[in-house]
Amino acid sequence: MIGDVIERSLRQRSPVIPVEALVGNCDGSRMPEIVADRLTEEVARKLVEVCPTSALGMYELEDRRCLRLSYGHCIGCGKCADAGQGAVVVARNFTRCGVAKEQTVRLWDIDGRAEMTPLAPSPEEARGQIHSLLQRALNVRQLDAGSCNGCEAEITALTNPYYDLERFGIHFVASPKHADMLLVTGPVTRNMAEAVKATYEAVPAPKLVVAVGACGCSGGIFAGSHAIVGAVDAVIPVDAYIPGCPPTPAMLITGILEVLRRRIAK
Ligand code: SF4
Ligand code: SF4
Repeated sequence: MIGDVIERSLRQRSPVIPVEALVGNCDGSRMPEIVADRLTEEVARKLVEVCPTSALGMYELEDRRCLRLSYGHCIGCGKCADAGQGAVVVARNFTRCGVAKEQTVRLWDIDGRAEMTPLAPSPEEARGQIHSLLQRALNVRQLDAGSCNGCEAEITALTNPYYDLERFGIHFVASPKHADMLLVTGPVTRNMAEAVKATYEAVPAPKLVVAVGACGCSGGIFAGSHAIVGAVDAVIPVDAYIPGCPPTPAMLITGILEVLRRRIAK
């Protein structure tokens, strides 16, 4: 009987999602994408009004009126897409994962109806470099600094047979002493601040720190609460940010690979 089970499972196709479908994919995260040629001042004002986390804002820059979108503050609520009259769509591809803080912010010239921020690296570029990036194993220690556990649920999914993070040689480890990278979720609560600092100190250099989720990037929906110290970078140095509330497993993998790419390029 056990022979039948083994034979049947060997005949089945692997459920693992191919790398090509993974890197840059943000399905399910509801990250917004601005359609520049549909942008008007009236629409921009409406977007700023409906955004619950001030991820969207309007600014004057060199006499130009601009719409600013900070993905680090965005919780993917979808309100801007509902109110945007076609000027906002839900993104299918998202490459601002694993990037520096300033790269999580985009800016559009409202009157010129054009984006003013430089383009992020394309998913194709990252896909092509994956094998050279992962020539050795990467050990990751996940640290919950006060999250709602939404981000943890997505991180846990990374190790299931569908996403199979281990195939990239990326492993989760129990001790910060064995880690190359700290993946920190949640806003840092006052109770956890010392533990976050101690964990950071315990990771051997050279270490990488990645702030995960809107909470890790900006404090998210908890920003301003008396119970938190702030985002992760209020407590320890952060190398890169992965937005989303929560980021999907594909966004997490894209972000981790992008961090490695940037480190190797240095
Ligand atoms: S999806 Fe993000 S940018 Fe849009 S309204 Fe919600 S929080 Fe604001
Ligand atoms: S970013 Fe969203 S899912 Fe992640 S800890 Fe914060 S509230 Fe929870």
